[in-house]
Amino acid sequence: MFKIIKKDECTGARIAELSTKNGIIETPVFMPVGTIGTVKSLSPFEIYDDGFKVMLGNTYHLFLRPGIDIIKKFGSLRNFTRYKGMILTDSGGFQIFSLAKFAKVKDDGVSFMSHIDGETHFFTPERVVEIQEALDSDIMMQLDVFSGPEASRDKAEKDLDITIKWAERSMSAKKKDGNLLFLISQGNFFEDLREKSARIMSGFDADGYAIGGLAVGETKEIMFKMLASSASNLPENKPRYLMGVGTPEDIINAVSLGVDMFDCVMPTRNARNGFVFTSSGALNIKNSKYKSETGPLDVGCGCFCCKNFSAAYVRHIFMTKEIFSQRLLTLHNLHFYQNLIVKIRQAIKENSFLNMLNKINMQKPSSLF
Ligand SMILES: [Zn+2]
Repeated sequence: MFKIIKKDECTGARIAELSTKNGIIETPVFMPVGTIGTVKSLSPFEIYDDGFKVMLGNTYHLFLRPGIDIIKKFGSLRNFTRYKGMILTDSGGFQIFSLAKFAKVKDDGVSFMSHIDGETHFFTPERVVEIQEALDSDIMMQLDVFSGPEASRDKAEKDLDITIKWAERSMSAKKKDGNLLFLISQGNFFEDLREKSARIMSGFDADGYAIGGLAVGETKEIMFKMLASSASNLPENKPRYLMGVGTPEDIINAVSLGVDMFDCVMPTRNARNGFVFTSSGALNIKNSKYKSETGPLDVGCGCFCCKNFSAAYVRHIFMTKEIFSQRLLTLHNLHFYQNLIVKIRQAIKENSFLNMLNKINMQKPSSLF
């Protein structure tokens, strides 16, 4: 059940609660990416303790390694990882088309070659639901076709029609009660296809709807135009999930268009590259000005890293390639995203979200808040 608690008066932003079998997800929400069952360098306990109640897993990766039979022995991906929160698993559609080799779409499914050992596999929409039910994901995603940023209109339309058929088949394939199933609206960079996809998918009365195929190299202008076409044609009373996006500015702007859920590798991947999000803009820890900085990375940040360590120390262990630096920067960046979400929810509650939106769009990129 998806219950809207408060709607912003000036934008499409809203606060809501999504009930799952393992608890309630308060939205807007940011979900850290734990592709194969772990957010790189952190423990599932740390993720949960920092306020992240939903973690992402990936069906394609978990199917290949460790294999579904291993996870079945534990009863669920939650038990296997010991994560106390809820788990959303992506279907693997994006990975099949971007990472695996020789992905070949047929009417009934897609064959692909594993990027790990070259073995050939075949996924159908039904099989992907079955795998996610075996993982016992709180939120499952349908198998979709990702056309890629360069796709022609003909290809985008053809892929969209297959994704729509697969959406319907995924709905029928669901056997277990309690695991939510989200459909993925596509349509590449064609506004009318985005609208068509969202309108048809809405008719299937799914538990929620994702918006896929964005943030894959297009300009921000195009991304938000497409996002608006998708989001405005999806049902008001269901959660909207923007897959793989994005920067703090992207998240605030997407919330204003009525998006409720987000995931992105940006805070964690950037951390491992020394790129740090702070309340006064992004910084690069490699910059020599932090060599002797006795203060934390971000004054006022309450994360484990900022509470205990100076920027000079973090820089020192980053430059000497100590593993601990990756953990500290990942903890910090994720805490920054969690804080961002808390601030967004607070702003919607206090009717000040429009100010936040205007501020971020006027001041970027030098200052975030
Ligand atoms: Zn911090």
